[in-house]
Amino acid sequence: MATPSIDTLLAHGAIGHDAASGAVAPAIHPATTFARDEAYRLPSARMYGRDDNATGEPAEALLAALEGGAGAMLFASGMAAAAAVFQTLAPGDHVVAPRIMYWALRGWLVDFCARWGLGLDLVDSHDTDALRAAVRPGATRLVWVETPANPTWDVTDLAAAAAIAHAAGARLAVDSTAATPVLSRPLALGADLVMHSATKYLNGHSDVIAGALVTAALDEPWQRLRAHRRTTGAILGPFEAWLVHRGMRTLAVRVRRQCETALGIAAALDGHPALVAVLYPGLPSFAHHAVAARQMHGGFGAMLSLRVAGGAPAALAVAGRLHLFARATSLGGVESLVEHRASVEPPDSPVPKDLLRISIGLEDADELLADLRAAL
Ligand SMILES: *Cc1c(COP(=O)(O)O)cnc(C)c1O
Repeated sequence: MATPSIDTLLAHGAIGHDAASGAVAPAIHPATTFARDEAYRLPSARMYGRDDNATGEPAEALLAALEGGAGAMLFASGMAAAAAVFQTLAPGDHVVAPRIMYWALRGWLVDFCARWGLGLDLVDSHDTDALRAAVRPGATRLVWVETPANPTWDVTDLAAAAAIAHAAGARLAVDSTAATPVLSRPLALGADLVMHSATKYLNGHSDVIAGALVTAALDEPWQRLRAHRRTTGAILGPFEAWLVHRGMRTLAVRVRRQCETALGIAAALDGHPALVAVLYPGLPSFAHHAVAARQMHGGFGAMLSLRVAGGAPAALAVAGRLHLFARATSLGGVESLVEHRASVEPPDSPVPKDLLRISIGLEDADELLADLRAAL
């Protein structure tokens, strides 16, 4: 049979029906340990709950299938998943990461690289020439990119980034949280590793903190990552893993609808006199629209940012006048959110002070647009 579409994969959820009960939904296994038989044999490869938990396996299998990967692992959070990638490098290794990326990861990375003896260069990874110049053949072990990148939604050309990384003997890891496997499949473009904050679209209901890594190959770095999760215990609890799987079943319908609403709102607000700019990869005027159109399929994401004329005070005032957008951090849930990034990032952040980040949810598109228009 041909490889099923994303919709069919999600609907079936990568679970067989439970042989004993016929159940069509997976079970939750809270057990921390597994009993051996009289000959001291374990019934499966599972021995202890920090090493393996069957509850996470359907979500991992589903995510690997969606990304076209050889394997996937759930982590306690997106940060735990991302940190594991850097923590399994060796002192002296060199890494390249974006200047503008998920803020908490950038902050942690700068500190961690300094203390762990990793070389770090932060570049505009959407600028292919800058990326090429930052990579050091033989020394750079990892190129980390995020696309579209939070919160300016810069789009990195993944095929070009993979070619640059591989030519230097480095691996390419992609934070694909905002793109989701519905819109972008980085492994098919040459990436070695994909990371998701499953807290966001994968779970989609703002009720679980979780992360995931997906690998192109079951290679030595992946085995090191598996051992790292097992020993450091950066695991996802069974109840959270079950919720992630449950949330993922509706991923494609949610994301497509959210993208459609986001595109409509971005297009309608583009050129609004109260705005300096609308940042959204789906707008033809967006700097990296051509790359986005080439490597994203079925939509440009449901995240957009508004730069408000009048700076931070004007941006905060607009946020304060919104009724249908919760003023909250995070993204990717069914409810729309607005966040003034400068209020939550440190003063030296490169993110513009007039920027409002918007996560489009599943509310009625016309009502969301009317709310934004009234607030502006
Ligand atoms: C939220 C987020 C993270 C961190 O994930 P957590 O689940 O909050 O730890 C990393 N990258 C991006 C792009 C995110 O949006």
